[in-house]
Amino acid sequence: MSTPGKKLKEWLEAQASRFEGQLLWDEPLARHTYYRIGGPARVVAVPRSRQDLELLQQALQATQAPFFVLGLGSNVLASDQGFEGLVLKSQKLDLGIELLSEALIRTGASVAISTLLRRAAEEGWQGLEFLTGIPGSVGGAVRMNGGTHLGETAGAVVAVEAFDLKAGAYRRVEGSGLRFEYRKNLFLRPEEVVVSAEWRVGRAEPAQVKKLIDETLVRRKATQPLDAPSCGSVFKNPKAHGLQAWQVIDRLGLRGCRVGQAQISEKHSNWIVNLGGARASEVQELIDRVKRRSQDELGIPMEEEVVRVGS
Ligand SMILES: Cc1cc2nc3c(=O)[nH]c(=O)nc-3n(C[C@H](O)[C@H](O)[C@H](O)COP(=O)(O)OP(=O)(O)OC[C@H]3O[C@@H](n4cnc5c(N)ncnc54)[C@H](O)[C@@H]3O)c2cc1C
Repeated sequence: MSTPGKKLKEWLEAQASRFEGQLLWDEPLARHTYYRIGGPARVVAVPRSRQDLELLQQALQATQAPFFVLGLGSNVLASDQGFEGLVLKSQKLDLGIELLSEALIRTGASVAISTLLRRAAEEGWQGLEFLTGIPGSVGGAVRMNGGTHLGETAGAVVAVEAFDLKAGAYRRVEGSGLRFEYRKNLFLRPEEVVVSAEWRVGRAEPAQVKKLIDETLVRRKATQPLDAPSCGSVFKNPKAHGLQAWQVIDRLGLRGCRVGQAQISEKHSNWIVNLGGARASEVQELIDRVKRRSQDELGIPMEEEVVRVGS
């Protein structure tokens, strides 16, 4: 029987010559996630232009296949069974960075945060240092309201342009339309792909911007297990209970707890690391254990920050 995923693949195979970017068939998602985990997606598409994006929208409309928008894959846990649909990887869609006015820059959604910060340090653009150490893209930061102890995306982004994969239309959101919560975007619909964002910046000596970035990186290296694949923090901090997620996990005595090749990190207990060849089901078992015990023993509901691809 032809599933929507198979129909999608056939539709795109027939249109492949019109697609500027890359189309990958039955592609292991482990190759596209920081976790190095995930079974095959029926199609991984890496659009390079707005025309590509629009073609993918037509493909979805024609086949009704499920889809998932992937940035750089640094905050996702992909199923061992993979994904029977389209994974639209926005890594090459728009890589532009431009100064719009003295206090405003525009970045394409595909720009890596590390690239943006390097440029900010060169140009003396101040106000984006809070993104230091986040390994994702602009699109991912906007979707996740990414941030650190220095601040979050909500505090610096002033406009977002998105493309609706169902309606096939672009939308610009700004001012009071930009609604965020802690690690949550309230204004983007699931079917919207971030195409670009505009950011408010101040002016400073380049060396001053670089100093804060460098100091923050040193601090992160000392406290985070950056030598093993992970998604960074797995759980949001349960702020209503006045605790950090790692404190909850420590109270449960779960630091270092291991299932197969997945382990709650000894160095930072809100990180679950892949020791090599871990399966999504093993990471999931650790997540479930933390949630169940936190609720039962401490009365604290824990909410995941990590996003799932596939079931
Ligand atoms: C070592 C490490 C450290 C980390 N540290 C931090 C940290 O300090 N602070 C923090 O906030 N996060 C942190 N993270 C998590 C992650 O880097 C952020 O959530 C980041 O913003 C995700 O960006 P991404 O491009 O990798 O998105 P992905 O992981 O690919 O996707 C994450 C979410 O964003 C959506 N998305 C991605 N691109 C788009 C787009 N173009 N349009 C619409 N939706 C999109 C996806 O659908 C998904 O829901 C860390 C992760 C790792 C591995």
